[in-house]
Amino acid sequence: MVTVEQDDPGAAIEVAAPAKLNLALLVGPVRPDGFHEIASLMVPVTLADVVVVTPTPGHDLTVDCPVCPGERNLAARMVREVEARLGRRFEVAVEVRKRIPVGAGLAGGSSDAVATLVALERLFDLDLSPRLRYEIAAAVGSDVPFFLWPGPQLAMGRGQLLKDVELTVPLSALIVAPGSELSTTAVYGWRDEDARVALPDFAARVRTLSSRIAAAWTLADVAALVENDLEASVVARRPEVGAARDRLLAEDAVAAAMTGSGSAVFGLFADVEAASRARERILAAPGDVLGRLPPGRLRCVTDLQAGPRSERATGALRRPPSRPPSGPRATAPSGAPARRSHPVGRRPSRRRSTGD
Ligand code: ATP
Repeated sequence: MVTVEQDDPGAAIEVAAPAKLNLALLVGPVRPDGFHEIASLMVPVTLADVVVVTPTPGHDLTVDCPVCPGERNLAARMVREVEARLGRRFEVAVEVRKRIPVGAGLAGGSSDAVATLVALERLFDLDLSPRLRYEIAAAVGSDVPFFLWPGPQLAMGRGQLLKDVELTVPLSALIVAPGSELSTTAVYGWRDEDARVALPDFAARVRTLSSRIAAAWTLADVAALVENDLEASVVARRPEVGAARDRLLAEDAVAAAMTGSGSAVFGLFADVEAASRARERILAAPGDVLGRLPPGRLRCVTDLQAGPRSERATGALRRPPSRPPSGPRATAPSGAPARRSHPVGRRPSRRRSTGD
């Protein structure tokens, strides 16, 4: 393998790695590859980890992460995948500063992987084609390609087939991570114990979801899309998840559901003030099961990650920039190649490493 020289070895790149919410998650039958067919309306949110990548010439890859250090981290798997595809070695130190609750269905690990890819592209001036970026991301994990593109998307297949979606209504959400880590594999296993799904029924529901997304112009329209086929199985075994969802509804959420395979739940609110008020009321009720949660497990998130940072503070959902034409892979996310237009929240800030 060739070791890539970096022209400014002291530089570090810092990239935000946003969490995602599954506003809708339909689960279909098991595929021949063992994964389930899914259809999911996914949105990135402002709750984010921070990934810092620093060139360390002469030293092998290190990954510093409080929950999953070393080669098992998806950030490390991303570096190894890029190395394998390009036949190069990248001598870097990756630091993952976790803000996103782990094992909560918020896909923090997958997002950290894409943040690492973006950092490598910037540090080493890689000019990867949209197709190669997509293939690398899909090889690291089913949820990973979603984060190549900064806006809401409809995910199909096992989650890796993506179509960008236009949602024009501002969304504000409160995320509650009520319990312990849940394993995605275990949760899908619970679902299989509880329900059998026929492909034609699933396909019909996907068509309905798709057309309702296209016609979702108001908050009420988006709220009506909110559902999660895994939720009942989790709530039956982890009652605190149902309690968190119900508490959000009692606090005037216009809709609430589990995200992904849980255990986090989210509520959609009329505006960011309503979400903040709900958060304050929950935290001020220490007798309540949710009121005893540390404040970090109650996160108020506002808009999708699809506009300049100054715009994101308004809490408004914004239309993502147009994708470049992607030919036969029209449903695959092309993302923004390095040195061209950078998705906001993925815009790396080049900074000097201070060593502290
Ligand atoms: P998914 O459905 O993708 O598993 P999740 O949000 O439930 O999503 P994550 O928080 O992303 O799960 O991570 C789940 C497991 O993945 C963790 O228990 C951890 O062992 C491993 N992992 C690997 N890389 C990371 C990372 N960068 N951050 C957090 N966990 C990671």
